[in-house]
Amino acid sequence: MKEDFKTLLDSAENILITTHKSPDGDAIGSAVALSRFVSKYGKNNHILLPDSPAANLMSFLDGVPYSCFEDFSFSEAEYDLMVCLDYNHPFRVGEAMESLVLEMDVPKVMIDHHPNPTEFCNLTISRPEVCSTAQLLFEVLQECKLDGYLDKKASEALYLGIMTDTGSFRFSSVTAKTHDVLRELLSKGVEAYTIHERVFDQNTKERVLLRSYAISNKFVHIDGTPIAFISLTHQELKRFEYQKGDTEGLVNIPLSIHGISISVFMKENEDGNVKMSFRSKGEFVVNEFAGKYFDGGGHKYAAGGFSRNSLEQTIKKLILHSKELL
Ligand code: 5GP
Ligand code: MN
Repeated sequence: MKEDFKTLLDSAENILITTHKSPDGDAIGSAVALSRFVSKYGKNNHILLPDSPAANLMSFLDGVPYSCFEDFSFSEAEYDLMVCLDYNHPFRVGEAMESLVLEMDVPKVMIDHHPNPTEFCNLTISRPEVCSTAQLLFEVLQECKLDGYLDKKASEALYLGIMTDTGSFRFSSVTAKTHDVLRELLSKGVEAYTIHERVFDQNTKERVLLRSYAISNKFVHIDGTPIAFISLTHQELKRFEYQKGDTEGLVNIPLSIHGISISVFMKENEDGNVKMSFRSKGEFVVNEFAGKYFDGGGHKYAAGGFSRNSLEQTIKKLILHSKELL
């Protein structure tokens, strides 16, 4: 595997780095780290995002070449390698960008940690046991003896990815290897507290009020089960001047309540569709349920889904089938 990655890298000059829609800290962190690594390694590269990330992640993109898909002037001839980070099925880049990922006639490498990868890349580096794509990218570069090309800013980006995908180093996916990698990143000059501040201390007043409203007014415990959910209508989001990322992590709050082991967050989009987030712990898993009923998937304990029904109908459907989560 590692030889294959290095061979593909060495034979390329212009690398297109892609990641999934609504890019999170792991997606942005992995993409930025790879871009900075590749530049140091002497190759041209460009990060292509399906859409922009939340505001608190934007500063990590400073100084790297990137575009959002809608502003991307694409010439296939410009690239000779595509890297697909933090997703393992082309549909995860969204409808608009999917055909580019599928049809672009260049070698493709997937580096990803989600279960059940689809075979659409020439080289698939898939390790679902690894907590984050950022850690996996570090492991791959280390195995290729290329980690020396990671500078402080690339290391900050990897720290971002590991930190956000592990709930700040607390999920069961965290291993001794995770801490070994973090040690390496700190030794490259990362000041950990600054990354935490850049990501988590970026609240606006409206964001805090939206989150407290969601908890105090919209929290529902499904009686007699360890399942709880929070839903927000588009109107409610508007009332609190919702910005992308404002509800990030809200789904984890019910999980901290004694007796709750499954949490669902539902957010109504402007078009009436509903984006869903699932989290669980212990013996409960959510990805299969998200796939079966809500067109989604993901990890055992952290999955997402989507509903074209109204928010009200979506909640009814969730409650109707909720016993299958147990
Ligand atoms: P989040 O709730 O943070 O949006 O997503 C949690 C995890 O679920 C992500 O890491 C991603 O793997 C997965 N996920 C989110 N949305 C979808 C989706 O629509 N389809 C699939 N297959 N996975 C998703
Ligand atoms: Mn990830």
